[in-house]
Parts: sequence; structure tokens; C-alpha cells
Amino acid sequence: MPHPPKVFAGVEVTPLCDAVGPMGPALRRPLDETFLGATAEHWAAVNAADWVLHFHCYLLRDPADRTILVDTGIGGTEGPAAAWAPVPGRLMAEVAAAGLRPEDVDVVVLTHLHSDHAGGAVVDGVPAFPNARHLLQRDELDWVRGPVLEQVVRPLGDSLQVVDGLLEMASGITVVPTPGHTPGHQSVEVGSLVLGGDVVLHPVQLVDPSIRYAYDEDADRAAATRAALLTRIRERSGTLGTAHFAEPFTELRDPAHRSEHP
Ligand SMILES: [Zn+2]
Ligand SMILES: [Zn+2]
Repeated sequence: MPHPPKVFAGVEVTPLCDAVGPMGPALRRPLDETFLGATAEHWAAVNAADWVLHFHCYLLRDPADRTILVDTGIGGTEGPAAAWAPVPGRLMAEVAAAGLRPEDVDVVVLTHLHSDHAGGAVVDGVPAFPNARHLLQRDELDWVRGPVLEQVVRPLGDSLQVVDGLLEMASGITVVPTPGHTPGHQSVEVGSLVLGGDVVLHPVQLVDPSIRYAYDEDADRAAATRAALLTRIRERSGTLGTAHFAEPFTELRDPAHRSEHP
């Protein structure tokens, strides 16, 4: 079932839970080899014994009745995420549980082209959301290779909308580049909410944003992006929406503000 929705800037945001499970053996490594630079103190602060991933997508419904889907989950048993993720994803059942048909989705924003975020965009070789345009950063499209390019990007064909940098896609809903995890990674801002894709993978990176993720394309750039994004959210006491945390919404408070009100 979808997680309970929240409203930001008049937009109803419903987290859809596509899948829950550990990373498969093809990618799985011990946590301290997955999150580089995390110490015993960092791990103690988040109380993490293991990493069970949720795979969240987000459904946005704005006051003008536009429907926007952010990410499409892990896809089916034949898709590119099947090598390592707990396929098949339940995205379509989650969309139905939210009261929608696939035809109702107007826009799909793909935060990036990893298989667990884009895998559900195509089913049986055709777009899963037939009336949607699919927003991607140009840097991401220039970078992608292999099964995601062949099995997801090419079948999307003319429905792709390539973006260069920041784009206000609807009133109060903005796509912003957040590169590093992949070259054209993007996030979606809705009022004080940021849907950050894989900018933050694990709660330990909230404790220290300089903790690197082993599968970042450019780990230094990802760390700089993460630190800047978290600062920006904390300064306005905003909310981070994550793909892989157990709880989809994490409220971030400005530490300076908190110290004034112990
Ligand atoms: Zn979930
Ligand atoms: Zn990723």
C-alpha cells in the first residue's frame, strides 16, 4: 500500500512503495564498504545493523489536477534491475491503489537512469505510462549505456523531454540538477519538500554528508551536492523525500534553530 500522502505548497505527494528488500548479491557488500568513510560512531548514531532498501516513487497531484510521477521503480522480472533488485516491482498496483490508471499520468520525472529508478518506465517494450512525457537531464542521456539505454530509454522514444538544468514544470514544482551520483541526476522541489532521488542513500549520510556511496559515479561531486542540498533544506526546516529510506519523508531541522529551543 502507498505510504500516507502529505501536502506541500498545495500539491498532494503520495509515496508509492514499489518494493522492499536487501540489495541482491550482485551488488551487495558489507555496509562499511558500501558507505565509505563512515565510522563506528556514525553507525551508532543511526542504529543500522543491515540495509533493507525501500524503493519509493512519488505521485504528485497539483491543484490544476496534473499528475506527475517521480521515478518508476525496479520494473519486471525481465528488466535491467532484475540482476540485483527484488523484482518485480509493485508500482502499477500502487498507482491503482492511489486511484489512478497508468493513462492518467501526465509527466514522469526520472531522477536518474539507474535501473531501480527507471526500470518501471517500460513494460513489455512499451511505455508503461502511455500519455506521459518523460523528463530527463541531457547530461544523463549523454551518459547512459547498456541495458537501461536499450530496454528503457529507446522504447520511450518521442515521449522523452530532455532538460538542460533547472525547469519549473508546474506552479511550485521545479526540477533541479543534483549531479554526482550520476552525471545528470536531478531532484524535484515541491515547496519545502525536495524529492532527492539518490542524493542521500542511507540515513548515515544525514549524520555526515561527506560519507561516500560506493556506487556514485563521481563521489566527490555527489558529496558536494549532498552537503549543499541538506544545508538548503535545513535552512528552511524542510523535508527530504528519499527513494531508499524506510520512511519516505524525513523532516530536517536547522541545527542552529534547534539549539535555541532545546
Ligand atoms: Zn516504503
Ligand atoms: Zn542510483
